[in-house]
This record gives sequence, structure tokens and C-alpha cells, in this order.
Amino acid sequence: MSFYCYHCWSDFEKESDCCPKCGKELSSFSALNFHEKLICALDHPERLTLQRAIWIIGNLRLEKAVPKLSILSKGCQDFVIVSEIINTLIKIGSAEAVKIVEELSTHTSSIVRKYASEALSSYLTHH
Ligand SMILES: [Zn+2]
Repeated sequence: MSFYCYHCWSDFEKESDCCPKCGKELSSFSALNFHEKLICALDHPERLTLQRAIWIIGNLRLEKAVPKLSILSKGCQDFVIVSEIINTLIKIGSAEAVKIVEELSTHTSSIVRKYASEALSSYLTHH
């Protein structure tokens, strides 16, 4: 499994007291805190950090983040972010998550609509 730093959102293979990337202390690490911090990172103003947080949420299949991802995807015009949200919702794969992808397939942006429809049809072929 991978570990993630909730300061800079780097991932690393071995559990450690300090982040190997940014050097910040991780001793207060707990799964609950980590998940909450990850959901908070969805408010992060920096696009790469936001994108990374969305990606990690998908890897962890964090269903608790779905409502926030839903809000984020609807107000967002940034295709990179919206497509990352779609990937993550498909990875989570709950009924609620898939429903949001369905809604995104009617998004105002044609590139988002296309991406969501394709993600949805590939999800449906595999389930
Ligand atoms: Zn770090």
C-alpha cells in the first residue's frame, strides 16, 4: 500500500514519521484525520494539489467524499479537474457516485459530456 502526506499530498511506499518529500511531521497520522484532511484538500486553491487529492480519494475509494465531489464537479469549468473527478467517481463505483457521472454526461461543456459518457459506458460494460 501507499502512504500519503497530508501536507503536500506526495505518496510514498514506507510508513514514516516525516514526509520524505516535504519533511513535515506525520506523527499525528490517523486514518480518520487523514480522510477528513483529504476531503478538506478539495477546497485547496492550487490546481495540482486539488487534482492529486481527487486522485488519492479515488485510489482509497473514499465514499465519504462523494457529496463534496458532486458539488465541486458542478461548479467547475476546468476539464482537467472534472475529468479527474469522473475517474474518481467511477473508481468509487457506488450508486451515488455513478449517478453523478450520469448527471455530468449532460454538462454544459461538450468535452465533459463526452468524457462522462465514455467513462459511464466503460463502467457499465465492466459491471
Ligand atoms: Zn509532504
